[in-house]
Amino acid sequence: MTATDIRSRLGLRPVINVSGTMTSLGASIVVPQAVEAAAAILTQWTEIADLHRVASRTIAELTGAEAGFVTASCSAAITLAVAAAITGSDLYAIEQLPDTGDRRNEVLIQTGHMVSYGAPVEQAIRLAGARVVPVGQATSAHAYQLAGAINERTAAAVYVVSHHVVDYAQIPLPTFARVCHEHSVPVIVDAASEYDLRRFLADGADLALYSGHKFLSGPTTGIVAGSKDLVRSVYLQNRGIGRGMKVGKESIAGVIAALEAWKTRDHDGIRARERAALNVWINALDGRPGIAATIVPDPTDNPLDRLKVAVAPEEARISAWDLAARLAQGSRPVIVRDHEAEHGHFYLDPCNLHPGEEFVVAERLGEELDRARLANEPIMTPLDRFWLDREAAILNWPD
Ligand SMILES: *Cc1c(COP(=O)(O)O)cnc(C)c1O
Repeated sequence: MTATDIRSRLGLRPVINVSGTMTSLGASIVVPQAVEAAAAILTQWTEIADLHRVASRTIAELTGAEAGFVTASCSAAITLAVAAAITGSDLYAIEQLPDTGDRRNEVLIQTGHMVSYGAPVEQAIRLAGARVVPVGQATSAHAYQLAGAINERTAAAVYVVSHHVVDYAQIPLPTFARVCHEHSVPVIVDAASEYDLRRFLADGADLALYSGHKFLSGPTTGIVAGSKDLVRSVYLQNRGIGRGMKVGKESIAGVIAALEAWKTRDHDGIRARERAALNVWINALDGRPGIAATIVPDPTDNPLDRLKVAVAPEEARISAWDLAARLAQGSRPVIVRDHEAEHGHFYLDPCNLHPGEEFVVAERLGEELDRARLANEPIMTPLDRFWLDREAAILNWPD
């Protein structure tokens, strides 16, 4: 951290993010092209409908869709896409939401897709005035259950692509889309965190939704891509519930620049740098008692590998969750990917590092593991207490 680091001016800790593109840590490192574009437009007047037209063309070019639209976030995109499926381009109906009157308002989603990305996906659907209709059970869903749930009240179906969803026995997207289309039900795919900007539309999505601030490294935004009629109906929601979720000119210009930069991004070079970071950590952990490190691919096929760090608590003298928590403390906090810590492992994600930070991560791992070995007692907080403490801590803000 340098003296000009805004974090030191604001009294914030210089966190190192090896957990992924997390909203709670600022999502991603925005590419310079997007920073420049946002700064350049902030002091200019511009006709927002025209700026959105430019964004639509850029999104269309990259996704292969007819049109595109920029929202405040992918979460907002889910709400506005559902709203569009309910109202179409009826301006009066748009102003009535979240009251849907006697319009179709049921939205189907597989039970195994009803996850939280920090907020419940089903709440983003309900926010538009829709009624959520779960399909199948948590750990299985079948095409006949989807077909059977469709009726004259069905407005849309939502499909989530994510490491959060149940990863077996769910309906594959091409089948899901075919069943929906047989009944003229539009399919909205939440692909917030996916690299592939074309695949889901090719697999049958009528609208594909992405976060602009995850792998694209743009400013906080959502991206909607799809058929022109549906995308127009999403755009028109800005005259209704979309107003409270509006996106500023700086974010629209910024995400256009991030999309342009994506076309020429040096993906191979980035992968090589990420692999080098993984190797630094493997070396740092080599021979440490109770620690096993393995490289694992991304669960939804994004071109990204992570380091899985398995912690045997008896030998390491610390549990995986305590180690993750201790790494996050102090003046050089390292935030790891710990959503599976109860299974005795966490991940190190190399996709959001500034140059050199991989060495700080290696040092911090060594530091905390040494400390645990030297402690009088093994560091093993019972998991139930660990979770309850964490839950209680949520309410501590702003103090
Ligand atoms: C991150 C995420 C979201 C939310 O995206 P935002 O742009 O942060 O609102 C929605 N769905 C999934 C699957 C996500 O990973």
